[in-house]
Amino acid sequence: MSVKVEYHKYDVVVLGAGGAGLNAAQVASQYVSTAVISEVYPTRSHTISAQGGISAALGNLEEDHWIWHMYDTVKGSDYLADQDACEYMTKLAPQYIIELEHIGVPFSRTAEGKIAQRPFGGHTAEFGKRPVKRACYAADRTGHVMLQTLFEKAVAQKTQFFSEFYALELLTNEGAVNGVLCWDIKNGGFHIFHAKAVVFATGGCCRIFKTNSNAHINTGDGLALALRKGFSWSDAEFIQFHPTGIYLAGNLITEGVRGEGGILLNAQGERFMERYAPTIKDLAPRDIVSRSMVKEVLAGRGVGPNKDHVLLKIDHIGAEAIHEKLPGIHELALVFAGVDCTKEPIPVMPTAHYQNGGIPTNYLTNVIRAVGPNPEEPVPGFFAAGEIASASVHGANRLGTNSLLDLVVFGRTAGEQSAKYAKENNFVPLAENAGQEGIALLQKFLNSNGKNTFGPMYKTLTECMEKYVGVFRTEETMTTAKGILADLKKQLDDYRVNDKSSIYNLELIEALELNNMVLVAQALTEAALMRKESRGGHAREDYPERDDANFHKHTEVTLDGDGNIKIDYRPVRMKPLTVETFPPKPRVY
Ligand SMILES: Cc1cc2nc3c(=O)[nH]c(=O)nc-3n(C[C@H](O)[C@H](O)[C@H](O)COP(=O)(O)OP(=O)(O)OC[C@H]3O[C@@H](n4cnc5c(N)ncnc54)[C@H](O)[C@@H]3O)c2cc1C
Repeated sequence: MSVKVEYHKYDVVVLGAGGAGLNAAQVASQYVSTAVISEVYPTRSHTISAQGGISAALGNLEEDHWIWHMYDTVKGSDYLADQDACEYMTKLAPQYIIELEHIGVPFSRTAEGKIAQRPFGGHTAEFGKRPVKRACYAADRTGHVMLQTLFEKAVAQKTQFFSEFYALELLTNEGAVNGVLCWDIKNGGFHIFHAKAVVFATGGCCRIFKTNSNAHINTGDGLALALRKGFSWSDAEFIQFHPTGIYLAGNLITEGVRGEGGILLNAQGERFMERYAPTIKDLAPRDIVSRSMVKEVLAGRGVGPNKDHVLLKIDHIGAEAIHEKLPGIHELALVFAGVDCTKEPIPVMPTAHYQNGGIPTNYLTNVIRAVGPNPEEPVPGFFAAGEIASASVHGANRLGTNSLLDLVVFGRTAGEQSAKYAKENNFVPLAENAGQEGIALLQKFLNSNGKNTFGPMYKTLTECMEKYVGVFRTEETMTTAKGILADLKKQLDDYRVNDKSSIYNLELIEALELNNMVLVAQALTEAALMRKESRGGHAREDYPERDDANFHKHTEVTLDGDGNIKIDYRPVRMKPLTVETFPPKPRVY
């Protein structure tokens, strides 16, 4: 059957309009023609909901240094982060935050008018000695103000936007990445975006867990698209479970609440984090706090009729401070927990929050091969930044506020590097069959008339991941998950999409997302099964210790020619950047 495809040509195509994508676009479009493709209107991307802050060792309220920030980042990552990337990010942070301020991000202020800063989990002074105020913020709406400002900037730069376009296939030819195939959700129809450089910025995948803090679009599409073209997903097993999700709902209560003095209590009213992390207590890194909460519940000290959650108390800082610094949290707690947090504690439990790993890149955001004889070799024309990417600065566990910083530093770097690449290289011609795979996939689901539908399958998938590949894991639970996921994969062959229209067919998009989520869940589970140790966000009850001798290395998940999941490993880059090569000049052309 012949299918009509519309063609577009841009020097740089950015897939994703969250903080990473918009930042890359607003920089690239200063130099070359740039398009942004997004499944949703840009300001609906998940970055909009980021609350607590963005880190940078500005030292506005007390002494701070980038090297302390780097130390915390490496330690927080449970030593799995690449140290060149950590140095790059923490060293550039103060300069880039000030640039954000200059393009209009309305940060909260100190009495003297400087950017205000608050403490956050795992951020310390003097290499772990005491908590430090490092998180810059705009009340509890930091992501909101950042995304709006970056969007305005990108629009002013004449970036071309293709909103409500759904990416189906990453295009490759002659060993390079050269475009993306999309489906126009609003009007129907296929579009091929031919590009000199493609920047992936599609965000995370935590919607594969039942209780999660993510937006509906965070289904890991970018991972699935990259995996299908033979690219790797680095450190797939490391999911961050944020300690304070609203009990039963999963919505996030920012760590900023604990930064402002909030404390966690068990059923006996005990501040139990004093036992698990005596120095930084409630502000210990997220993996530690999440596990401590689950341990309290398992020990019978949980709250409520089912003794299955704990409490987050913040009322003691006073209603005025709550309304000024945490207005969004006050509202979230009222709506989703029915609790007025100026008077009562908020019921909380860990929620799947962040994908620590991602498509592997070097610190300049070039996607690298990661497997084979030259693992650090860059893929021509392919860049990635934000939650989808792994530079890697988060390793096994990301520090709070380091993700927005990742968008700012690596998003901008991706913009600079992709523009530079586009200036120095020609278009790689489209392959003869470019887009055929994605077109066939969409048509398969659009014409499907089997018996399985989204609802029950999504429920099975997310409950399976939460129960068997959640905060604590064992060989047995993950093997159970593997069986359920294999069954779900089979069910996709007997699927049914009732809506056969091509305009706003959200049932079709759900089917395509489910197809991706099953692959992503399988890849994650396989990686987790193979890592026989506990590290960061990966806590195995059957291997409770960290095992540096055998597992101080990045996991690399790829698909072989038959679509089977393959696991390889890659050494952690332990060498920081040298003084001679740092700082790299941000604009080199
Ligand atoms: C509730 C919440 C609070 C947070 N608070 C903080 C915080 O205070 N500090 C901090 O540092 N971090 C925080 N984080 C983490 C941080 O906000 C995210 O990691 C970050 O915003 C991700 O940005 P991104 O640009 O990578 O992706 P996103 O903002 O998720 O954007 C992804 C983009 O990809 C597009 N896309 C996806 N799939 C497709 C497809 N198939 N086709 C076309 N387009 C596609 C989407 O349309 C979207 O535009 C928080 C996260 C959550 C969920």
